[in-house]
Amino acid sequence: MHTPWFSEAAFASRFKRLKQQKAWRQPHGFADNSHFINFSGHDYLGLSQHGAVKAAAQKVIQENGVGSTGSALVCGHSHYHAALEQELAAFLHQPKALLFHSGYSANLAVLGTLLLGQGAIFLDRLSHASLIEGALHSGVYFRRFQHKKVAQLSQWLGQHKGKPIMVATDGVFSMDGDEAPLRELAKLCQQQGALLYVDDAHGFGVLGPQGKGTAAKAGVPTSQLPLTMVTLSKALGVAGAAVVGKAHLIDALIQYAKPYIYTTAMPPAMAAAGLAALNVMQEEPWRQEKVLALAQYFRQEAHHMGYTVAPSNTPIQPLILGSNEAALSLSYWLRDSGMWAVAIRPPTVPEGSARVRISFSALHRKADVRRLLAALYDYSKAHWRL
Ligand SMILES: *Cc1c(COP(=O)(O)O)cnc(C)c1O
Repeated sequence: MHTPWFSEAAFASRFKRLKQQKAWRQPHGFADNSHFINFSGHDYLGLSQHGAVKAAAQKVIQENGVGSTGSALVCGHSHYHAALEQELAAFLHQPKALLFHSGYSANLAVLGTLLLGQGAIFLDRLSHASLIEGALHSGVYFRRFQHKKVAQLSQWLGQHKGKPIMVATDGVFSMDGDEAPLRELAKLCQQQGALLYVDDAHGFGVLGPQGKGTAAKAGVPTSQLPLTMVTLSKALGVAGAAVVGKAHLIDALIQYAKPYIYTTAMPPAMAAAGLAALNVMQEEPWRQEKVLALAQYFRQEAHHMGYTVAPSNTPIQPLILGSNEAALSLSYWLRDSGMWAVAIRPPTVPEGSARVRISFSALHRKADVRRLLAALYDYSKAHWRL
């Protein structure tokens, strides 16, 4: 009998190849933080653990239950959702915001929907996977320009004059921690009539005045930012995302975006927790200052030891090792020293740039960072011929 395509045997050979390439992946939890110091999370401000954020979620669960019980256009959009949308829009000086379950689905919605099947999408080469998925989903022509090469994008925009164009980029690149040239991109897109969409998953809450994000840090006028995506899942320590920008573009998403329309709204407790986190973030600016200072301290010290660091002024601090083996070896060394920092391998990052991606939180102590640096020093002594 013919072995069906979904049999265990059919997958076994593929799995074997992944394992040989050291590319096999597994989910990791972090339930027990007594064993490890976590340097792989993106709870940048430590708000996932904040009393006011937890209390806001608990209160709404007690009073309203857990699930939202419907999609946003049917009955799932509570006043908690509306309040968070309003506050996020006001905080970012934009007319309107729309909540999504995740940054992933927000990106699918924006890239997949707004062009209505016309024109083209241009993306930075190192854009997050969800932006690329959205571009594929749109069905329109799309290309990726070289990382941060505004000149190349400019050339392409010139070649596609008169077409509807969307330009999408991460604000902070998720695997490198560097920032997009948003001033130049915003100016170019305005001149050329292209829509600039900034995915600020890692910039929001961390960079710029009060954590208003990468564009605010770069001094981009809000009038040049038609649409921005911010996540509630990173600096805010909750879950979900919002697209924030011009009212008619948000209205278009409400009309056309299937990842918004055909899904149950996020639990109201998540919206309430998100709003509480947004408030704490503004009331406790030391969180932002501390996480950035820890990251810069780490980067300088790791660089002095001879590690290849990235040009990052954010809490994301990759150590570029090159091969999958080298990245795994360092990751295991750290694990054996009580620190959790996972190896990131292709296809998440380009071939030959496997890395250990370290990320910092305002909950880390300076002593935690010193311990990490001591382990890195020991590793270099044990593994490098100097
Ligand atoms: C994490 C991330 C997302 C996805 O956000 P989730 O809320 O985790 O789905 C999108 N874009 C970038 C750049 C990210 O880093």
